[in-house]
Amino acid sequence: IIEFKHVNKYYGKLHALKDINLKIEEGQVVSIIGPSGSGKSTLIRTMNGLEPINSGQLIVTGYDLANRKTNINKIRKNVGMVFQHFNLYNNHTVLENITLAPKIVLKRPDAENKKIAMELLERVGMADKADSYPRQLSGGQEQRVAIARSLAMRPKVILFDEPTSALDPEMIQDVLDIMKYVADQGITMVVVTHEMGFARKVSNRLIFFDQGHILEDRDPVEFFKHPDTDRARQFLSKII
Ligand code: ATP
Ligand code: MG
Repeated sequence: IIEFKHVNKYYGKLHALKDINLKIEEGQVVSIIGPSGSGKSTLIRTMNGLEPINSGQLIVTGYDLANRKTNINKIRKNVGMVFQHFNLYNNHTVLENITLAPKIVLKRPDAENKKIAMELLERVGMADKADSYPRQLSGGQEQRVAIARSLAMRPKVILFDEPTSALDPEMIQDVLDIMKYVADQGITMVVVTHEMGFARKVSNRLIFFDQGHILEDRDPVEFFKHPDTDRARQFLSKII
């Protein structure tokens, strides 16, 4: 569903992604871990066209991102994204946050949007806040709404960039539980995370990223038992 072939990405002189070859299959839940500045965010931001690539081929849900003629909005219908800092529309209610994109982008009827949104809010435990504004929510609640908003588009893939990093500890688990629910729906997920419990238990593939390279691409349980590389061993010894 996502395929990188010899992809390179530069920020000026900085070589952020170095000859990336990576194929993610439908339904996989991929965790990406690695040191700060290694290029994890850059990698997933290329997957929905938020960062352009400089060379190579990148096919996402059948569309070629290296081709200028590709309409990025078509990819974004298929690929949702949840960021570290929740990016809800502050001047819209929780319910409107969820119904807006399906209405405008998918042209789905209002009644159906509302029904789907309320089901999702119920699912993430936020139905009682449907008429609240984002500023009236806690960080964890905002993130739950952000995931519901993503799901309302019925995407094939959801990209997560450190979705729990800005949260208070007691809210992290709620968000992780919802991410596990998303995984159980069979939606393809690519998750940059510091949550090693999630990486080990929920994801079925683990990528250790370092200095613009994929250093390890493994089964998560095996990776945590026996990292192949010294870099990964060092990294794990610092964070666990
Ligand atoms: P972190 O764990 O801290 O979020 P990361 O692995 O997500 O790090 P990236 O944000 O992808 O790393 O950054 C990779 C490299 O590219 C870093 O050296 C960073 O400074 C650089 N970089 C990222 N975004 C830009 C940008 N918009 N312009 C220039 N350089 C950038
Ligand atoms: Mg990052």
